[in-house]
Amino acid sequence: MHPGHGAHLGRRDPADTTGAPGDRQATEAATLEQITELSSWQDRLWGEARRSLLVVLQGMDASGKDGTIKHVFRGVNPQGVRVCAFKVPTPAEVAHDFLWRVHREAPAAGEIGIFNRSHYEDVLAVRVHRLVPEDVWQGRYRDIVAFERMLHRGGTTVVKLLLHISYREQGRRLAERLHDPDKGWKLERSDFLERSHWDEYQVAFEDALTRTSTSEAPWYVVPAEHKWFRNWAVIEILLQALRVLDPRYPPAPPPEEFADVLDEPSAGPDPVR
Ligand code: ATP
Ligand code: MG
Repeated sequence: MHPGHGAHLGRRDPADTTGAPGDRQATEAATLEQITELSSWQDRLWGEARRSLLVVLQGMDASGKDGTIKHVFRGVNPQGVRVCAFKVPTPAEVAHDFLWRVHREAPAAGEIGIFNRSHYEDVLAVRVHRLVPEDVWQGRYRDIVAFERMLHRGGTTVVKLLLHISYREQGRRLAERLHDPDKGWKLERSDFLERSHWDEYQVAFEDALTRTSTSEAPWYVVPAEHKWFRNWAVIEILLQALRVLDPRYPPAPPPEEFADVLDEPSAGPDPVR
């Protein structure tokens, strides 16, 4: 999304596949290569240990947040990646400012942080369910922009992704969960209650994206109805961000620096004692 422009979610096709390298099969093949590239960037980011990447995932229930995390990050070293799911706030969390629980989960230098839901719930669910007065959530857009700018200045690249699906597709996926014994565990009554607020959520998303997409922390609307396209598009966005970041391994020190601590003059394999 270009900063300063409306999100226009209603005009975006959630089943769009424009830009994909080919049909489903070709795109899935390309995704395997993308995963290798993602893994290599992550290794460099971790080695460099100076900067970080934050991936914010938002979307309606059943839009594929969990599936995206599972597929997109399947090739990376778990040591350098941290996923944080933001649920209904605990009493302690509610008793603090809304960014309190978020900031402490921000990725450390070298890490990729993944937010499965995020501080955006504080202008989405909170707005739709009228959990705070309007002037409170209205003020949060500016706080969010300032917070993300601060993360950016501290060396964190912030990438925000909305997984865009239609009302029909959500209905289809929820019904599938209802009837598939392997997926039923994912269902909650609240999914259907939330669904009844679909239109209000779309308005809340529209405002949130429009008011918080900045050059430091842009929003991307990812057409998410075709999972193969969604996975490809998400990785492509992350690869673009990492190529710009271009993390480098720190230079290896010259072997002479270790001469005094090496117990064997020749650096061959360990002798068997
Ligand atoms: P899953 O259902 O796959 O476990 P989920 O993200 O849907 O994942 P839930 O515990 O079902 O997890 O839902 C989290 C709920 O918490 C969502 O309905 C979300 O809107 C709500 N939530 C998250 N953050 C806040 C917040 N700050 N204030 C109010 N509600 C929130
Ligand atoms: Mg849920």
